[in-house]
Amino acid sequence: MLFRTITKENFKKMVEGLMEENEVIGPKSRDRDKEGNKIYRFLKLNCFDELEMDYTRSYSSPKDYFLPFKEDLATYRLENNGWDQKIHYTIHPRIIIGMRACDINALLKLDQVMLKSAYPNPYYFARRRNTLIIGLDHEPLEDCFCRSMNTDTASHGFDLFLTDIGDRYFAAINSDTAYIVLNRFNAREVREEDQLRYKKVKKQIESKFKTQVDITILPELMDLEFESEVWKKWGDKCLSCGSCAMVCPTCYCYGVEEDIDLSFTQATKRRFLYSCNLIDFATVAGGYNFRPDAHIRLKYRYYHQFRGFEEAFNQSLCVGCNRCGKACPAGISPKAVIDDLIKTEKE
Ligand code: SF4
Ligand code: SF4
Repeated sequence: MLFRTITKENFKKMVEGLMEENEVIGPKSRDRDKEGNKIYRFLKLNCFDELEMDYTRSYSSPKDYFLPFKEDLATYRLENNGWDQKIHYTIHPRIIIGMRACDINALLKLDQVMLKSAYPNPYYFARRRNTLIIGLDHEPLEDCFCRSMNTDTASHGFDLFLTDIGDRYFAAINSDTAYIVLNRFNAREVREEDQLRYKKVKKQIESKFKTQVDITILPELMDLEFESEVWKKWGDKCLSCGSCAMVCPTCYCYGVEEDIDLSFTQATKRRFLYSCNLIDFATVAGGYNFRPDAHIRLKYRYYHQFRGFEEAFNQSLCVGCNRCGKACPAGISPKAVIDDLIKTEKE
């Protein structure tokens, strides 16, 4: 990997230059929560000043730009004696600025399923291929457990990764495009003083991780505690609202619906994100629901995150952002559930 530094002034010019020809997306505050804290989302930027590089956590993840909540897969029209089908999966080039390491790692996990499986998803592929990713180092929040999930740093999956070292950014370069763009805006070779500042910032970030989740024996523990009362304890609180999956950067369960025009001459096939916590997720033809209880559905979401994905891809699906814990109206978080499972196992 190559490294350069770019002054904040030149970074601003760079973003403004990129905006001239591309859609640029970044963290923006949209509202405030009940404690008065800003609520951030990744949104289209109209000018550089809208970009809030000091954002804390975005409520939902940049996954929205790769797996949107709703997307039309195809439209059909019956004409004369034939039919016409339209499929749109091309997008204009775009840039996402400010992605955290955990969200970049989340995309790499989605890649395993969406790009490297037996049936790659062309819609996801088009978005992934046409999106330039500029990552950004952050100090962790109190409840982030990305360090436990080994996703607090990213070594690939981005074009450029920035660390704020004062008046400039220390930039890790991971693609030709990023290299060319950076050099157009007077990036300079890394000097000794930059290295020292970079190391200091990294140490500071490392010292701020407070929340830990012990995942060392997790896949085995999940099997040992399959019948545990822990699932009932937390599952009985679950409102089956699906918020956890909607904000999660790695959840990808979906449903497909066909929207048929009343004239019966045209239709749209639409895909929408779904959640395995929703009451009808496991309802099959004939109306039988093989996961009718909230605690069973909750258990299977955890099984997918910490057990099933591990078996299929040798890694957890969760990246430890705790967005699900923050969004859950019932106060259910991975740390609380896993800690309980570990405690039960030790009793
Ligand atoms: S902490 Fe929750 S929202 Fe974040 S990746 Fe893990 S399961 Fe998803
Ligand atoms: S957000 Fe909480 S209450 Fe809603 S489905 Fe997820 S675990 Fe259940």
